[in-house]
Formats: sequence, C-alpha cells, structure tokens
Amino acid sequence: MLQKLLVIDDSDPIHALLRVRLRDEPVEIFSAVDGLAGLELARQVSPDLILLDVDMPVTDGFTVCRELKRDSLTNSVPVIFLTGASSTDEKIRGLDAGAVDYITKPFDAAELRARVRAGLRTKFLLDLLSKKAMIDGLTGLWNRAHFDQRLATEISLAIRSVRPLSVIMADVDYFKRINDQFGHPCGDEVLRTIGQLLTESCRKEEVVCRYGGEEFGIIVPNSAAADAAGLAGRFNRVMASHEFTCRGTRTPLTCSFGVAELAGDRDCHIVERADQALYRAKQDGRNRVVTYDPDNVPATTVAAA
Ligand code: GH3
Ligand code: MG
Ligand code: MG
Repeated sequence: MLQKLLVIDDSDPIHALLRVRLRDEPVEIFSAVDGLAGLELARQVSPDLILLDVDMPVTDGFTVCRELKRDSLTNSVPVIFLTGASSTDEKIRGLDAGAVDYITKPFDAAELRARVRAGLRTKFLLDLLSKKAMIDGLTGLWNRAHFDQRLATEISLAIRSVRPLSVIMADVDYFKRINDQFGHPCGDEVLRTIGQLLTESCRKEEVVCRYGGEEFGIIVPNSAAADAAGLAGRFNRVMASHEFTCRGTRTPLTCSFGVAELAGDRDCHIVERADQALYRAKQDGRNRVVTYDPDNVPATTVAAA
C-alpha cells in the first residue's frame, strides 16, 4: 500500500511543483491550501508524512505543527517544514514546534526526494515499533494495551454512528490444573492453541486479544449482546470439538464467557460488566456463556455447551 503524503501550503504553484518533483515516488499526495484545512485533512486521511509551509496567512505553519502534535490522532505523523528563509532561527523554531526536518525553498529536487524518503522511513519504523508493542509475545494475539486502546476507539465509533458494540471476556476453566499436571510449557501451548481457535472463529472486524494470563478479551463491533453471545457460543462449541493433547494425553478444555453490550454514550464500564457476567458463568458451573443483565437481576445464561 502506498504511503500518504500531505502537503499544506497556501501556494498552488508549490503544490504543482511538488507533485512533479515527487512523481516517481511511491506516495499518494493530498493537498491543503491553508492551515485549518490541513489540520482537518490530516485527521481524515492519517498521512505518513506532512510537508508544511511555515509562512501562511491566518494560521501559520508553527501553529499548525503545534496543533498536529497536540492531537492524539496526528501527533505521531512526522512533519517537514517548507521554509523560504535560510535563517537558522526559523529552522530552530520549526524543530522546536515538533518538526523532524525542514526543506528550504527553492527546492533542490534530489534533496527534496531524499528528505521525503527519510521522513517516510521514520514513520514506517515508528508504526512497526508501536505495532510490536501491542502484540502478545506468547500467543501472537493483540495484547491488553491494544485491547484498551482499540476499545476506546470502537466505543467512540459506536456512539457516533449509533451502532451497538459488545465485549466478550473468556477465561479458561481450571487452567491451573494443566500447568500443575503437565508443566508450564504445555500450558503455554494450550494458550497458543486457544488464541488460534478464537481467531479462526472470528470475522475480520472482531478483535481477539489476550487480556492477561488465561483470559481473552474480544471486541465485537456492530453487535448487540445477543449476537455477541451467539459468537461466544460458537467459541464454546469449537473448544468442545477440539482435541487438546498435553504430553500425549487427550485433555478436554473449556472456557467460561461473559458478554456485555455498550449501554449509553457515557458508558465506560462495559469490561467490568462483561467480567461480572464471566464471574457468574464461573459460579454457575463454568463451560458456559452468560450475558450481563442490564437490570442486574440476575445475569442470564444464554447458551451452554
Ligand atoms: P478457573 O476455572 O476458576 O478460571 O480456574 P483456573 O485454574 O483457570 O484459574 P486460576 O486463576 O486459579 O489460575 C490461572 C492460572 O493461569 C494460574 C497461572 O499460573 C496460569 N497462567 C497465567 N498466565 C500463564 C501463562 O502465560 N502460561 C502458563 N502456562 N500459565 C499461565
Ligand atoms: Mg481460568
Ligand atoms: Mg483467570
């Protein structure tokens, strides 16, 4: 996929010139002719690099850069200032405002391309690093940090688009016995297999994460609790039909599932409610799916294996 380059400059000839100079680079170019339009476009398209004119009427480049760095949607995008001046003061001000580099107008074509490539390379490596920090080392699933971040994003999206959103918390039943009986490496292997089974049973938009220990969290966008409980029921059946083997011994394994749905636009307790439902599933005998009851009396069992 092409990386995206956003150019923010009040001069049409500069936009035209940059398009010609960067014609052979593997980038998709977006253009904005003033600072506010540039900020808006940056939030919309999530560019990989921004070329930002210092000298613009109304909102100058320094102000735009500071704003980009303040907004969590855009603060990781490298900014290269386009500066008419060769004054050291202006370059320092740009770098202090959060830019990674500057290019002096009129552009030297080869230098422009080299600096753009360097900026894009920086973004690629930053993305790679932040992705690695979100992956669970044992199972290869998304980790708890990603779960929290993604859930916050999905909650905003669900509220804005007036769509349902659900969360499933899954906990392996009597998992400690596996470690005790067969050793931790076997326990690890079981966790990897369960992560794989969960992932294979999901659609692409559902987000399977290792929440911690032998607990998994699944974010289910566009789904009310009843649909998410259906999905959890499917996981339950997949677990029941999988032949787990530890050190050559057939070892049936089950999970308990708690399901909760987003309740209103001030809801920040969806995980707590899914946890309460999971707790009830454990209390009621494990190996089952329990949906949180919004009236809280009592949680209802919607599917059992
Ligand atoms: P319950 O049905 O009530 O959930 O019982 P349980 O045995 O699954 O739950 P408990 O909380 O008593 O034990 C969870 C165990 O999971 C204890 C811990 O050592 C183990 N565990 C957590 N993370 C890992 C891991 O990464 N690898 C292995 N092998 N074991 C882990
Ligand atoms: Mg457990
Ligand atoms: Mg547990």
